[in-house]
Amino acid sequence: IRKIGVLTSGGDAPGMNAGVRAVVRTAIYHGLEVVGIRRGYAGLLDGDFRPMPLESVGDIIQRGGTCLYTARCLEFMTEEGQQRGYQRLQDAGIEGLVVFGGDGSFHGAQKLHELGIRTIGVPSTIDNDIGACDANIGFDTAVQTAIQAIDKIRDTATSHERTYVIEVMGRSAGHIALAAGLAGGAESVLIPEVPYKLEDVVAKLQRGVARGKKHSIIVVAEGAAHGVEVGRYIEEHTGFDTRVTVLGHVQRGGAPSAVDRVLASRLGAYAVELCMQGVSGAMAATQNGELVAVPFDEVFRSERKPAQELCELAEILSI
Ligand code: ATP
Repeated sequence: IRKIGVLTSGGDAPGMNAGVRAVVRTAIYHGLEVVGIRRGYAGLLDGDFRPMPLESVGDIIQRGGTCLYTARCLEFMTEEGQQRGYQRLQDAGIEGLVVFGGDGSFHGAQKLHELGIRTIGVPSTIDNDIGACDANIGFDTAVQTAIQAIDKIRDTATSHERTYVIEVMGRSAGHIALAAGLAGGAESVLIPEVPYKLEDVVAKLQRGVARGKKHSIIVVAEGAAHGVEVGRYIEEHTGFDTRVTVLGHVQRGGAPSAVDRVLASRLGAYAVELCMQGVSGAMAATQNGELVAVPFDEVFRSERKPAQELCELAEILSI
């Protein structure tokens, strides 16, 4: 193999840049040429390719977002689109491709693998919903961002003796909410994976107030409920002064944490090594800290559920 491509696809995640840097530097270290494909599969279909020399990835390890840009591309979900993408890679002499993204991006990568391009996926999504691995790039940073915000809201909640509902991201998964709720000392954490009743949330709040509690923080995963609706319900059923904060896209940005930078560097470098070894149709990941290649089929079958132990702990600590 002489030339590989790299792209970022789907939602951006802090740490993608560190990963792209690792791909470029590792490939060049081994004497390969690297081509950056901008805006994910959209750029692949448009032929938006750039050579990536060593210096093209200088000064990006600490930056959030992705220097290659990212996009969602409906055309690539069709067979004609995938054929065209394959042809673009063939024409450019690109034999291997590293795809940073989430589940959807891996489905696209699987198609290119089936067409004969060596493809390796690198799990990158703040939602942390890609299973069969320890963690996804961007999750650690997103949780840190959420906690910084929760800590600040806690200050004002304490001063004003209010109830605060904080909605965090995660799409249909509750990983960010659970981690941020635990680390932020939330009274209740609502996640889509665990059934809940708002009347129980209210009862808990009222028990807390009866004990003399002055403020409360409730963390809601966007996949579980709308923060605004939870806030309205609480106010209507308790009369407590309740405020709602939707953290939104701040959770997607910011400098990646050290954990995410190290993970992205390891996985980016490993993805290149896998390509060189002839591995294809697989995700570069860590399991129990060790680098492993997990076939896409296995990734698609697996689902990351929040650990039962963490759910119980959040419940116990917020008694
Ligand atoms: P995130 O979870 O962070 O949003 P993602 O990779 O799951 O990331 P998607 O929007 O689902 O984000 O997918 C990104 C792109 O991958 C899509 O816009 C599309 O071009 C391609 N893609 C998704 N699903 C498929 C599929 N089944 N077949 C081919 N390509 C796909």
